[in-house]
Amino acid sequence: MNLVITGANRGIGLELTRQSLTRGDTVHAGVREPAQARELTALVGTSGARLHVRALDVARDESVHAFAAALTGPVDLLINNAGRRTRTDDLEDLSLEDALQMLQVNALGALRVTRALLPRLREARGAKIASLSSGLGSLSDNTSGGGYGYRMSKAALNMATRSLAADLRGEGLIAVAISPGWVQTDMGGASAPTQVSESAAGLLAVLDRLTLGDSGGFFDFRGQRIDW
Ligand code: NDP
Repeated sequence: MNLVITGANRGIGLELTRQSLTRGDTVHAGVREPAQARELTALVGTSGARLHVRALDVARDESVHAFAAALTGPVDLLINNAGRRTRTDDLEDLSLEDALQMLQVNALGALRVTRALLPRLREARGAKIASLSSGLGSLSDNTSGGGYGYRMSKAALNMATRSLAADLRGEGLIAVAISPGWVQTDMGGASAPTQVSESAAGLLAVLDRLTLGDSGGFFDFRGQRIDW
């Protein structure tokens, strides 16, 4: 299977890449700074020609177009993993500039990459587009407030997922929003209950099982549905 994973240099994206390579997939790993992505590029040694590390800033049109132009052949699975979350994001302390950046990366970034890769996704049979969302993007779950920029960006990502599912269903493409759980990464922090290896394994297993009937859904890394 041919995968594209964005934000693959650390955290969940790095682990998704590692596990996908271990099971024999080919991965096109998009990272902002390839020269700095030492843990990722170290995997080239063990996976040979199946790992391609390429520059990709999902917030920049030119970068996304260059990334897409370098790809040939079908892409079976696109994982929009790249994400950003600022620490100060509550009513009194949030910066609207930071909120705009989160929207730019978390919502528009996923849409930008998906749109640029459509020709590659259409070349595969029943390609899947999985966007890493969060329970914090659920409208119905928000009774605790706060987290304005991040919550709004993931809610916008969820809405993009619904439109992608509707627009692409007729062509057999599947689009879902999927939450990795609360995971021990730079973003999730050290007290998160889920190890990155468990989250990534769960995500890949759920994505493997998806059918067209699941398109437009919001799932967690165990395959349970999340309310919008
Ligand atoms: P990390 O903060 O550990 O890693 C984020 C990754 O996204 C990094 O590789 C980072 O690259 C990349 N990234 C950020 N901005 C851009 C950009 N403009 N272009 C390309 N790549 C970019 O986060 P996690 O691994 O924890 O999270 C992965 C995804 O899962 C995110 O979408 C996040 O919102 C989501 N998620 C995570 C949860 C958790 O508990 N960890 C919970 C719910 C959702 P760089 O190193 O260059 O900054």
